[in-house]
Amino acid sequence: MDYTPIPAAGLPPVRVNLYSDTQTKPTPAMKAAMMDAEVGDEQMGLDPTTNALQDRMAALMGKQAALFLPSGTMCNQIAIATHCRPGDEVLAHETAHILTSEGGGCAAIAGAQITGLKGARGQYDAATLRAAIRAKNRNAPPQTLVEVEQTANSGGGAVWSVERLNEIAAIAHENGMATHMDGARLMNAVVASGVAVADMVAGFDSLWLDFTKGLGTGVGAVLVGSREFIGTAWRWKQRMGGAMRQSGMLAAGCLHALDHHIDRLAEDHANAAGLVRGLAQVEGIVPEPAETNLVFFSTEATGLTAAAFANAARQHGVAFSTNGRYRVRACLHLGVTAADVETALQVSRQVVASAPR
Ligand SMILES: *Cc1c(COP(=O)(O)O)cnc(C)c1O
Repeated sequence: MDYTPIPAAGLPPVRVNLYSDTQTKPTPAMKAAMMDAEVGDEQMGLDPTTNALQDRMAALMGKQAALFLPSGTMCNQIAIATHCRPGDEVLAHETAHILTSEGGGCAAIAGAQITGLKGARGQYDAATLRAAIRAKNRNAPPQTLVEVEQTANSGGGAVWSVERLNEIAAIAHENGMATHMDGARLMNAVVASGVAVADMVAGFDSLWLDFTKGLGTGVGAVLVGSREFIGTAWRWKQRMGGAMRQSGMLAAGCLHALDHHIDRLAEDHANAAGLVRGLAQVEGIVPEPAETNLVFFSTEATGLTAAAFANAARQHGVAFSTNGRYRVRACLHLGVTAADVETALQVSRQVVASAPR
């Protein structure tokens, strides 16, 4: 994402924040749960609330073990470092977060390289994956990891079907490669598709879920995999300074989100669909289909760049982000109501109507 900043100086306050689903703030009930958390030394395995979150996540995902980490980026980087040796190659979609948005961490930390695969809506298919797998030889980098992003962020929040996921995982495993899922918005895919989460991730050796996107916490992501995988991941957590102490207060927020903020993702998806319907009525705006909580649309036919559109909307108190010259992104989340969507539509109409022709 080439995020447009949300500058505050001289601007009205943000009334509707569609900038990112990371803009959520802990609810009063979440804060109360955090205040009451039982805590201990996480680095010594003695924080009961963090342990409870890890146990619950491992069980939910149908895997052996889990590890609480400060961020999704750290989950991805630790997973790659655990699966790969320096010089190895990772196959991922060309728009994958690990390729575009993690500061080159894969090369800098694991010492691995990523090959970007093509495909519509942030997804590649079985044929594309097969074509990218080379015969093993002395010259080629060892191909050790296949990565998918559920949902595909730059792909418009698109949901990988469980059939496609299983197919991709089978091809990877047949070729001696491990599988990793960037599940930043995994629960959005689960709610939108109705597929049980353990079934959705069954083909993946490792995966993680972000609690700071639509699930609404301030800090935290959980990496899941086999006992052996998590054992090695622990060393990386320690090495990277991700080991914490009384992290139970943070883990309590995540447990609260698992209890209270998953089913409600359906509201975000309904709001996203409403936003798409309304935007399609605005002269010159072309929205992409929304499958979950992310809405992308083109401003090209309005004569406005994405940045010009977003800056003008921000003047009216509605925050969008941009992704390319004419591509705007709107994120629906627990801080945005159906009435807010109407406000965003009203402002969008106004911005386009006053665009210079
Ligand atoms: C946000 C995001 C990440 C990184 O998560 P952080 O918790 O912000 O570090 C990784 N992958 C995708 C698809 C994301 O949207």
